[in-house]
Amino acid sequence: MTLIAFDLDDTLMKCGKDYIKAKETFAEFISTNYPITFDHALETFEEIDQKSVEKYGLSMERFPKSMVKSYNELVSNPLVKEEEHVRGVGYTVFKSANEYSNRGFMSGAKEVLTRLNEMGFELHLITAGDKRVQQKKVDGLNLDNFFNETHITEMGGKPECLGRLIENSQFDSDEVFLVGNSMRSDIKSALEVDANGVYIPAHEWRATEETQKFEQRDDVYMFEDMNELHQNLGIFEQEKRLQNH
Ligand SMILES: [Mg+2]
Repeated sequence: MTLIAFDLDDTLMKCGKDYIKAKETFAEFISTNYPITFDHALETFEEIDQKSVEKYGLSMERFPKSMVKSYNELVSNPLVKEEEHVRGVGYTVFKSANEYSNRGFMSGAKEVLTRLNEMGFELHLITAGDKRVQQKKVDGLNLDNFFNETHITEMGGKPECLGRLIENSQFDSDEVFLVGNSMRSDIKSALEVDANGVYIPAHEWRATEETQKFEQRDDVYMFEDMNELHQNLGIFEQEKRLQNH
């Protein structure tokens, strides 16, 4: 019996690139119209948005609001028209279900989910974020077809969600996996409830002292991308795990 949970953003579908693009558009706009450098505009935004994450969590309005706030901080005589332009840049990160559908899965992800379904595992989606945003991604990728249940949690809500799933089921925590691209949000959440973490940093791979430490644990698996995981689905089969230990 195995339960496998998946993160969504940058695990099943590329999303981070939308935020990078919006931030660059913002910094470009500021540095083109004012004697402010691109880098300074970007840094100011990052600082303001970081503070605002602590205050507002993952609510949809946060990102565009941080952009307007950064504009007002950088520019001495802000104009309403420009403020609206900047807010609009912030909102470009939110796509329609149709746009997410056209974007599709991260390479290899659909094959992984299809095969795990065929193997008969219980699959759950656990994604942190604003329901109004995440639901469009769920709909765009038709994730209800692949998962037993989808869960959209608050910021930092993943351990609690996974813990509840374990508690309400007959799974032992060592038969439970969380697959994700974030060491902090996914892998640590899994370890917090004694489950296994499957770390797929995709393109954000950075070897740090911390990742090296996790690399040596037998409850953390690491793969370069979904295609590599697809070649190694045996990690989810208990008999194979027992043989290897
Ligand atoms: Mg993610």
